[in-house]
Amino acid sequence: MDDLRLDGRVALVTGGGRGIGTAVAKRLGAAGAHVVVNYANSEDGARACAGEIIAAGGSAEAMQADVRDLAAVQAMVDDVLERHEHLDILVNNAGIVRDTLLLTMSEEQWVDVVDTNLGGIARCIMAVGRSMMLNRRGAIVNLSSIAAAHPNRGQANYAASKGGIESLTRALAVELGRKGVRVNAVAPGIIETDMSARVRDEAGKEIKNRVLLRRFGQPEEVAAAVHFLVSDAAAYITGQVLTVDGGIGLS
Ligand code: NAP
Repeated sequence: MDDLRLDGRVALVTGGGRGIGTAVAKRLGAAGAHVVVNYANSEDGARACAGEIIAAGGSAEAMQADVRDLAAVQAMVDDVLERHEHLDILVNNAGIVRDTLLLTMSEEQWVDVVDTNLGGIARCIMAVGRSMMLNRRGAIVNLSSIAAAHPNRGQANYAASKGGIESLTRALAVELGRKGVRVNAVAPGIIETDMSARVRDEAGKEIKNRVLLRRFGQPEEVAAAVHFLVSDAAAYITGQVLTVDGGIGLS
């Protein structure tokens, strides 16, 4: 369908060097967007991802910036805007876990997770939002998690950060809607990436039995939801959270 095409648009995907971010970057690249594949540490992964998009006939580049560092994020965005003149799509995918019970949690574990997951999104939108507003066009998707609504033990920092992301998504939809910028979130369940490896190893069988579809999700299945939300197929959707969890939230 034409309204899923992203030709002529520039997309920034944070944490695109591995996992869900790589799948999102490839999907948006295949739909015709020029993709900026951001990374903090996974330079090889980000370069490989950009290389695959280009080899498939698309357009992409890898750029380093840590989402905990506003100056670095702003420099990356300014560089993109200088060369491409517009940035139309922002996928705030970068995220970390530091699971432990709150009463045994160090302050560092709390701050790291909240500052990366929630603070990182705020910084990226601070850096990109003005240009989207001036162009009166933009689509932002933030990666939440089913942990926002259904946290497991030991996820207080992560669940709080993801709950904050969902509130931030609604708050920014309110602030940016009249400027033509849509802001939505995707809340994945258990997806097969590095992030979920420990929980899948420790309790994989028990968790799978709680998933209505009886399997873990693939990064590409999350990417499909992100693609829909950033495309014109979702032109009248803003301030929403789309859950992609195989139905585990209902069990
Ligand atoms: P992952 O495989 O662990 O990858 C995490 C990504 O985040 C990496 O690309 C990493 O980049 C990036 N990142 C972390 N800290 C960063 C920072 N300070 N600056 C820039 N990038 C940073 O995780 P994933 O499973 O793909 O998760 C992606 C998103 O989906 C996260 O927001 C996560 O919370 C969410 N999610 C995942 C699951 C799941 O089951 N996997 C479920 C629900 C939600 P570098 O490698 O370059 O450091």
